[in-house]
Amino acid sequence: MRIVLLGAPGSGKGTQSQRLVQRFGIPQVSTGDLLRSAVARGTALGLAAKDAMQAGKLVDDAIVLGMIRERLAEPDAVNGYILDGFPRNLVQAAALDEMLTAIGKPLTGVVLMEVNYTELGRRIAGRRSCPQCGGIFNVHSLPPAAELRCPNCADAPVLFQRPDDNESTVANRLRVYDEQTRPLVEYYRKQQLLRSIDAEGEVDAITALLIAALAGPAA
Ligand code: AMP
Repeated sequence: MRIVLLGAPGSGKGTQSQRLVQRFGIPQVSTGDLLRSAVARGTALGLAAKDAMQAGKLVDDAIVLGMIRERLAEPDAVNGYILDGFPRNLVQAAALDEMLTAIGKPLTGVVLMEVNYTELGRRIAGRRSCPQCGGIFNVHSLPPAAELRCPNCADAPVLFQRPDDNESTVANRLRVYDEQTRPLVEYYRKQQLLRSIDAEGEVDAITALLIAALAGPAA
């Protein structure tokens, strides 16, 4: 299974990818996570990506494609993967197709996760992450506490908010999604890979919809 989760920031791609990892035993490949890790480690790649990320713009295609090429060549990706946050524009989608066609392992499905703008804003504002396990949570669904802590880690580290989840960066990220990423919906529809789900409900219900969509025919 080689799939792409497509959707705006806050549509639940990361949360649902983590569910699919559990279910199918294939890795989540998130370009956002890979880039954040490079920034945190202060690598050359991280330095090159940092400003664009802070501004809510897309990181250079060459950087992202190099990173993806390396990641998909790792042994754990041999039986498939969930692409989360990649591709983000038509250039990346075409490059991915070329890369996968060359090895005879094309994508098997793309799921568009549809969420309205009000809900996207609410989810992004409430999103918190665990620095240890990488789990994604939301203040709206966690019990109220002065300091929000990870419910899944033994030593309960304090959850943090992503620096690019602030209001002005988010506005840019949503604009970039509309202008550059949304055209991928048609791109994948034409390839008969696209499924779409209403991703506005509860996490468990959305996981069920997602799994059913992957098992069903493309639109
Ligand atoms: P995400 O975690 O997917 O929301 O990504 C966070 C940020 O990383 C984005 O706002 C971009 O600046 C950058 N980024 C992530 N994936 C890509 C990509 N495929 N192409 C370009 N930039 C990306």
